[in-house]
Amino acid sequence: MNLFIKRISYRFTLISTVLLTTLGCSSSEDTTEPLEETQTEVTTIELTSLPFGGETPTNILIRNQGQSTPDFLSLWLCGLPSDGAGNADASDWTNADGSWDYNRKPQVEGNVTWMSEFNVSLDGNGNRIITGNALPDHPTGIFPITPGSDAYRYDGNPNIISEHVVNYRLPAIPEIAQEPNCVFFGPSGISLSGSAIYHGSSTLGNDAAAHEMLDRFGGHTDGTETYHYHFPSEDLQEHIHEHETGHAPLMGYMLDGFGIYGPYGEDGELLTSQDLDECHGHKHPVLWDGEIIDLYHYHWTYDFPYNIGCFKGTPQ
Ligand SMILES: [Zn+2]
Ligand SMILES: [Zn+2]
Repeated sequence: MNLFIKRISYRFTLISTVLLTTLGCSSSEDTTEPLEETQTEVTTIELTSLPFGGETPTNILIRNQGQSTPDFLSLWLCGLPSDGAGNADASDWTNADGSWDYNRKPQVEGNVTWMSEFNVSLDGNGNRIITGNALPDHPTGIFPITPGSDAYRYDGNPNIISEHVVNYRLPAIPEIAQEPNCVFFGPSGISLSGSAIYHGSSTLGNDAAAHEMLDRFGGHTDGTETYHYHFPSEDLQEHIHEHETGHAPLMGYMLDGFGIYGPYGEDGELLTSQDLDECHGHKHPVLWDGEIIDLYHYHWTYDFPYNIGCFKGTPQ
């Protein structure tokens, strides 16, 4: 966490300077204010002030309710379950300006360890084979959420975590589909930690990361007893592969086969959803199976929709 806070405070200093400069400019006759600096301000994100998904422009679009195309900054779901459950009240960590504060939101405490099995291989015939038991190779919080704990006050998640057969055959080098595909409930991808990556919506149709009680790795469990992530917490990033400089390392594979990387772009800058396309990705040369190739990929950012907005390829 410390590293991130340091990075953020550094960026904060820059912004303050920009703001001061801007203020200084407006109170003098000098109006030659560089536009670029204003943009830096817009694309900066802090954990204490994150946008809620489901509120314009960070929409949750539902195809079977008539929203037939994906959109920038949004999550395009195929549908919404009729029997959703979870926390609907995020007011205790909502700021006056309507954003939410990751640091004020309770976490599911605990340190439960699991026997994770996970393997990724290429079969030589153009496929990536991913197998495992869906359990994470890091400790999790205690699930069901402990009655009486801080997190339990908001979310009584009664579900356990259990093993599941993971057996994906994904294209080794995926292709962009003619049209993007909507995102269904259940796993949207698999993290290199061995557990599922879920999209940004809860079954209630709200921003899952902003509402539901997650552990320090950004994960929790659900009615299918599947441990899964909604948020790329710094602990999860560091656990998978510590980021030092430049582009963030690979964090997992989405179910169309494209990779998902942490929140840093080619120059090591912290990305937000504003930097990415309607599916929450972009294309540039990236490290892929040991080689640098020009390939589309997703980024997992701190702001909604966090990981995937739509499938750019064809999901399994
Ligand atoms: Zn969830
Ligand atoms: Zn990238």
